[in-house]
Amino acid sequence: MGTLDGLKPEKVFHFFEEMTQIPHGSYNLEGIRKYLIRFAEDRNIEYTADEAENVIYRVPGTPGYENSPIVIIQGHMDMVAVCEEGSGIDMKTTPLDIFVDGDLIGARHTSLGGDDGIAVAMALAIMDSDDIPHPPLEVVVTANEETGMEGASGLDISHLKGRMLINIDSEDEGIFTVGCAGGARASCFIPEDNAAVTGTDISTIEVKISGLLGGHSGQMINLGRGNAIKLMGRVLSSASPASKSAVITAICGGVADNAIASDAVARIQLPSSEVKAFSDAVKNEAEKVRSEFASTDPGFNVQILDPVKAQNEINISLSYAAGFLNALPFGVIAMSKEIEGLVETSLNPGILKVENGNVRVEFAVRSSIKESKEKLVKQLINLTEEFGGTNLITGVYPGWKYEVNSPLRDTMVRVFRDMYSREPKIEAIHAGLECGWFMDKGEGFDAVSIGPDMQDIHSPSERLSISSTARTYDFLLRVLAELK
Ligand SMILES: [Zn+2]
Repeated sequence: MGTLDGLKPEKVFHFFEEMTQIPHGSYNLEGIRKYLIRFAEDRNIEYTADEAENVIYRVPGTPGYENSPIVIIQGHMDMVAVCEEGSGIDMKTTPLDIFVDGDLIGARHTSLGGDDGIAVAMALAIMDSDDIPHPPLEVVVTANEETGMEGASGLDISHLKGRMLINIDSEDEGIFTVGCAGGARASCFIPEDNAAVTGTDISTIEVKISGLLGGHSGQMINLGRGNAIKLMGRVLSSASPASKSAVITAICGGVADNAIASDAVARIQLPSSEVKAFSDAVKNEAEKVRSEFASTDPGFNVQILDPVKAQNEINISLSYAAGFLNALPFGVIAMSKEIEGLVETSLNPGILKVENGNVRVEFAVRSSIKESKEKLVKQLINLTEEFGGTNLITGVYPGWKYEVNSPLRDTMVRVFRDMYSREPKIEAIHAGLECGWFMDKGEGFDAVSIGPDMQDIHSPSERLSISSTARTYDFLLRVLAELK
């Protein structure tokens, strides 16, 4: 007896449950790939398992649809495998312990992988059925989406003949995503200048910024929340005149380039006689920050502490390093002129650390316009070079620009209207989607991204709505039937 037995649509939940029993966090895909390949072999479905670990299936159209245009159905096989702190679950080897709670499916103490297992389950259910009318299909199950879209970026587009792409990797039923941002990871390094504090009576203090709300650097960048790395630059810059010979001996902040940094710490050496003036200046600027961010980050906090460790990780003039951090751009750079409320271009310094005698700041740069992204990256490079530093640009991925003319979207809107007597929301997002890679690699793609309602993806509280899955699957089948 499976936990999801009896839930409808039966096949979708059957395949979904099977997938939850095979650990398939990103970079741990051997088992799930074997499962996906076996699925094809058991049913004599033509497939390609490529070097980027993607699995691509090809199925002919059902009677009456033999010559219809090919439709691509796409989702990713990997999930963000996370468990509650202290649960001690080895996500690499342990099947998920799934449960049903009312309309929701979850997994005890771990993420569920509804993102994006439900897309794969829907595609398998369609291919496994012989009573679903559909055009010829290319089902593309990509690998390692969550870690940087390696599967999609490594996809050989010549495997695909279809140009209509239904991506099932969105988490809001009734929202059609029709555009996304491209991005890059830009790391900026400035070297230590081996500065030393003048005088003999030297003190060490720590300035700690905490209590900011943080959040996703794409979808939440427009909220105007404070970034601890930027605020550290601001606070230290303002205090810098109070101690001209102050040296930063350690500095760090943030956890990921795509998360707005919520914490940062700097360890500072300075003449003991200047500690009071410096601390006062820090507190004074912190007060200004507090009132400026009172509505967005009510928990903002700056503390001046005695350091926990005394060892120097770096020796860099405070005025130099803080000046650099303060000069770095941050936040929304431009809003879309076509889609109201959509952030077009932004950047976020998400990680600050000391690395091989450098202060390293790692940015997530995003834009739905390729040229704007490139311009912003160039700006970071110029600025860093002005400060005597260097850059490393990695993880570049393409965006997906909103297409005014989209027959697929028109069909999907019409079917949605017929089914629900209301309009779907048409949205572009300020985050990456694999669709961007298809557009980048091939000409003429017409794409829409959909998906059933999910909550708290990428976390142990992830939940998938059963009724929304049923409706989304039903909708997908009706769309396929319409694409004759
Ligand atoms: Zn996903």
